[in-house]
Amino acid sequence: MTQKRIAIVGGGITGLTTAYKLRDQGVDVTIIEGGDRLGGLAAGFDLANHRVEQAYHFLYKTDEYILKLVDELGLGDQLQYYKSSVSTYYDDKLWPMEGPVDLIKFKPIGFFDRIRAGVTVLWLQREKNWKKFENITALEWLRKYAGRRVCDVIWEPLLRGKFDKYYDRVTMSWLWGRILQRVDSRDPQLGGEALGYFDGGFNTLVKALEDPVRESGADIRLNTMVQKIAHDDATDEVLLTTENGTERFDKVLLTVPSHIAAKMMESHKAEDSTYFDKLESIDYLDAVVHVFASKQKFTKYYWHNVNVPNAPFVVFLSLTNLVGQERFDGLNIYYIGAYVPAEHKYMTQDNRELMDGWYGQIKDMFPDFDQSQIVDDNIFKMKNAQHIVDIGFADNKLLDHQTPCKGVLLCNFAQIYPMDRGTNYAVRDGVRMADRLLQELGNQTASGNQQIDAAE
Ligand SMILES: Cc1cc2nc3c(=O)[nH]c(=O)nc-3n(C[C@H](O)[C@H](O)[C@H](O)COP(=O)(O)OP(=O)(O)OC[C@H]3O[C@@H](n4cnc5c(N)ncnc54)[C@H](O)[C@@H]3O)c2cc1C
Repeated sequence: MTQKRIAIVGGGITGLTTAYKLRDQGVDVTIIEGGDRLGGLAAGFDLANHRVEQAYHFLYKTDEYILKLVDELGLGDQLQYYKSSVSTYYDDKLWPMEGPVDLIKFKPIGFFDRIRAGVTVLWLQREKNWKKFENITALEWLRKYAGRRVCDVIWEPLLRGKFDKYYDRVTMSWLWGRILQRVDSRDPQLGGEALGYFDGGFNTLVKALEDPVRESGADIRLNTMVQKIAHDDATDEVLLTTENGTERFDKVLLTVPSHIAAKMMESHKAEDSTYFDKLESIDYLDAVVHVFASKQKFTKYYWHNVNVPNAPFVVFLSLTNLVGQERFDGLNIYYIGAYVPAEHKYMTQDNRELMDGWYGQIKDMFPDFDQSQIVDDNIFKMKNAQHIVDIGFADNKLLDHQTPCKGVLLCNFAQIYPMDRGTNYAVRDGVRMADRLLQELGNQTASGNQQIDAAE
């Protein structure tokens, strides 16, 4: 009997997890990835001969689904937790900002406002009912409860940095999800927030998924953009078109951004225009991430929120202040990150010019910064790196995994609501998709994933 053929479009953590779970399940798996490497937004690259992520990544202790997978892959001893250190750059100064107590010590706002800022965060950390935050924007909620001054100085710059022109549309349930994720990641032994990082970076996870998938005989194709997907009613197969031609599969899993999925399946629009309206209505921002290795250490913090009006980037961080310099031959690894709309000048600006401009901003923040100490750098412009969770998202934009195109499932981070995107949920949903695909193909063995879902 010929094996059923499954195509997974996108070789990020979602697609790789599904492929990993489908290996050895009696199905023929093909991963089709548009980029030149696996890992998607969590992909790695070599900086000064050390493998790091293109975009800064870490895990929380609360990331239960990915932690189960880490155990299953035998990577437990390659994932270490480190004490985080967070600061806010405001008024030409760095302020520690690790929790309510630091908020209370944050002098740029008055004492009463600081208490209010701390109390609102503490209250949010304890609130379990996110439904009550669905119909109010984060900006409105914070102005109302944390106060105008607190919002102007602390929250609004972060919302603007993270969401650019959409900053005043993001629902409070998004912020609630972010705060909840962090609160339980505190480790009394480390004395603060604990963040997890793999020896060898997230590439360790990507490789641990990729190797068994390859060994099982799966076909992994890089640099191959999927252009079109359609169901063939005559044979009950899915036709998948790339620049190399059209192929037939029994099932297809799309892990690509929603509007890209809409374009691919356009010929099915008339079958369920509401589904397509939702797909097309989800806004995304691109991410620009600048990474550099330097002989110089010029800050003591890991994370720096940049709370400056019209800041050129929202975050600056030192990976080595989190995980140490030893593994990088004594070098310091830094990241600068910005989220921008697709039409923003950063997306077309010359990379060298953009990086030099950002070094100038780093010099303004850290007068001791010496650009001549940099030994390697790179910049990555990532399309559709963050979706916008606006008011009414759950009712108007949240999509079922089954698409109007028969045989085709969609699974991307815009379906994770109310939690934010992250590798933890990519793993959770990748596992679920593997089970669903097997069940749809009538394979009752499924992939033993109930264990991961039982974590819910
Ligand atoms: C700056 C930044 C920082 C982050 N930090 C963290 C963090 O600290 N911790 C954490 O857990 N998560 C973090 N994330 C989020 C995390 O990277 C994502 O949630 C996760 O990697 C999503 O995986 P995915 O497979 O669902 O999607 P993606 O990684 O987006 O994978 C989708 C894949 O589809 C491919 N594709 C798109 N179109 C086509 C096409 N037409 N044909 C073929 N292939 C196509 C893409 O090339 C991509 O590889 C961060 C993300 C960013 C941008």
